[in-house]
Amino acid sequence: MSQSPAAPLAPAVPLPTVPLLQLGTWVVFYGLLAMIVIFFVSADQGAISIPAGNAVHEWVHDARHLLGYPCH
Ligand SMILES: [Zn+2]
Repeated sequence: MSQSPAAPLAPAVPLPTVPLLQLGTWVVFYGLLAMIVIFFVSADQGAISIPAGNAVHEWVHDARHLLGYPCH
């Protein structure tokens, strides 16, 4: 009678590798996207806004307070 191992050996699964040089385009894209979001959260006061009006300011109002930007 042979003794079985406590746990069967898991098959070898190759780990995926992420080439860092191919991430450059995505890093730039998401970096620009983040800067646009930070601009609208931090700089849009309603007086000078894109688009005109208080819509963007109201949409990001809670984020302004969360990040500590002066608001009202
Ligand atoms: Zn406020």
